[in-house]
Amino acid sequence: MMSDPSCIFCRIIADQAEASFVYRDETVTAFMDINPINPGHLLVVPNRHASSLGEVNDEVGSHMFVVGRKLALALRRSGLRCDGVNLFVADGAAAGQTVFHSHLHVVPRHAGDGFGFHFPPGYARGASRADLDAVANRVCAVLEEN
Ligand code: 5GP
Ligand code: ZN
Repeated sequence: MMSDPSCIFCRIIADQAEASFVYRDETVTAFMDINPINPGHLLVVPNRHASSLGEVNDEVGSHMFVVGRKLALALRRSGLRCDGVNLFVADGAAAGQTVFHSHLHVVPRHAGDGFGFHFPPGYARGASRADLDAVANRVCAVLEEN
C-alpha cells in the first residue's frame, strides 16, 4: 500500500493534514512531533505507508537512519537545548508504538529533562555467558534461515 487514507502520517505526507516539516526527499519526510518530549523532537517517516519495521525495506530503513543522523547533528547546532540525542523506534504496541506508520524518533536531550527509559527490577544484575550465548544462538539461527 503506497498510502493509507486512515493513517495520520500518510495524510501529513500527502499534505492533507498539517505538520511542521523540516526535511523531505523521495523516500522519507521529517516533521515535528505534535507532542514533543523536548523542543526539536522530530519524526522521520517513510513516504510509503509501512505499519511496522517488517514492512520497511533495507533501502528505506537505512535512509531513515541516514536522515535521522543528519537531523541529530542539525539539532545540536540549532541553538535549541540539545546536549544529547536519542534515536529510537517503537516497533509494535508492546514497544510503545501508537502510530502504525513506522517512524524514527529524533529526540534532543538535556540533563534533568525528565525523559528516560524505565528499567525493570533486577535489570543491572547481568546475565551469565551461557545464557547470553544461548540467546545469541537463537537469533543467529533465524538470521541463517534468510
Ligand atoms: P509512537 O508512540 O508510535 O512511537 O510515536 C508516535 C508519535 O507520533 C508520538 O510521539 C505522537 O506525539 C506523534 N503524533 C501523533 N499524532 C500526530 C500528528 O497528528 N502529528 C504529528 N506531528 N505527530 C503526531
Ligand atoms: Zn501511513
